[in-house]
Amino acid sequence: MTIKVYNTLAREKQEFVPIDPKNVRMYVCGPTVYDLAHIGNARPVVVFDVLSRLLRVEYGAEHVTYVRNITDVEDKIIEASLKSGEPIESITKRTTQAYHDDMAALGALEPDIEPRATDHIQEMIDMSAELIRKGHAYEAEGHVLFSVSSMADYGELSRRNRDDMIAGARVEVAPYKKDPADFVLWKPSSEEQPGWDSPWGKGRPGWHIECSAMSRSHLGETFDLHGGGLDLTFPHHENEIAQSRCCNDKPYVNYWMHNGYVVVNGEKMSKSLGNFFTVRQLLDEGLNGEALRLTLLSGHYRQPLDVTREKVAEFKTQLDRFYGALQSVAKVDANTDQASEAFLEALRDDLNTPLALSVLHDITTELNKTGDDRKSERKKLGRLKGELLAGGYLLGIIQQDPEVWFKGSGEDSSEIESLIAERIEAKKARDFARADAIRDQLSADGIELLDSPQGTSWRRK
Ligand SMILES: [Zn+2]
Repeated sequence: MTIKVYNTLAREKQEFVPIDPKNVRMYVCGPTVYDLAHIGNARPVVVFDVLSRLLRVEYGAEHVTYVRNITDVEDKIIEASLKSGEPIESITKRTTQAYHDDMAALGALEPDIEPRATDHIQEMIDMSAELIRKGHAYEAEGHVLFSVSSMADYGELSRRNRDDMIAGARVEVAPYKKDPADFVLWKPSSEEQPGWDSPWGKGRPGWHIECSAMSRSHLGETFDLHGGGLDLTFPHHENEIAQSRCCNDKPYVNYWMHNGYVVVNGEKMSKSLGNFFTVRQLLDEGLNGEALRLTLLSGHYRQPLDVTREKVAEFKTQLDRFYGALQSVAKVDANTDQASEAFLEALRDDLNTPLALSVLHDITTELNKTGDDRKSERKKLGRLKGELLAGGYLLGIIQQDPEVWFKGSGEDSSEIESLIAERIEAKKARDFARADAIRDQLSADGIELLDSPQGTSWRRK
């Protein structure tokens, strides 16, 4: 087994070799909890969920630690509170819950550890103090700033030149900074702002030090893999590297992975363009969470991904195909829990989810054309069913009972069943007008009837 990942740090695909295969460690930047997650925020969650599932299957679930944080102290939260009047604790609590609900609707498993920034303030203070002691940071007017010029190879991840860095970070040219590229580790808080006592007065951490401190607390000074959206490469991840390496005098992360942007009809999603939608909004419109997840995995994670409602509907149809195949072999026992070699090869090759998905379609095609009248054929069906389910598990799809997928767990099921029974009676009595009327009525309610020699089954359209 060889997993290859594209390492942003090296700008190439590399073989993934964990420091300790009995303790594979990954960290992904989590949300700043001030607003509902938009579809661009959901992409890294789903992509790295697939990676964590692959690592668990390959190394054993007990040998993988996946940490994804909650940023619950940050200026955007303070701004949101000032704007709406809602207390900060209420905003962060409500938004964290919504985030959990939305990511669960997308089939993302919970990370092993979900640290909150406000539970790690002391570690952030400790790291800032250590950086000052080592000559990599300085105090100025209640602020602690990282001194970029103290690190010879600052910028190795984003490979930006100095002017780009300053422009990219939209850094404030503040009089207390020795260099405009220096960034904040700690800043003073006013009476109304959230703040903690520190050697530099009452204040709060900068965003970048939060991830350096939380990852060190839970994964150690050097760990295997760090993920996030492409937009975090600079300044956030660059600054995490600077803080952690200079503080710990050790390498920080061996593999950096970044997912591409979500675009909408070819344009970058943004609030100002009005093409911005939240996960909640799409779910409330009735879009299926599993189909939305599959849409997010339908392109290679490093490429930009266009998400449209039509595309989500198309992937819902693909899921119908998988579930239909599973429904047809409901009585066959799966005789393997291993994904097929072709499927695993696709995921091991830098998470090639589009190729993995096409392997699942190939398996489904084979399953659909295999009869179950011979013993040898039943064995083959058992293998194909097992491979479809195991591959589906890695992608986080098709794990529901096909009956529930097609019929829902709605309370109207018994009503539907009794109308179907009435239609059968009407047909027996040659009352075809009544039988057709029932079919039309159900159809208008979104219920499709499937007549076969074995009887009538139904599904929601
Ligand atoms: Zn982070």
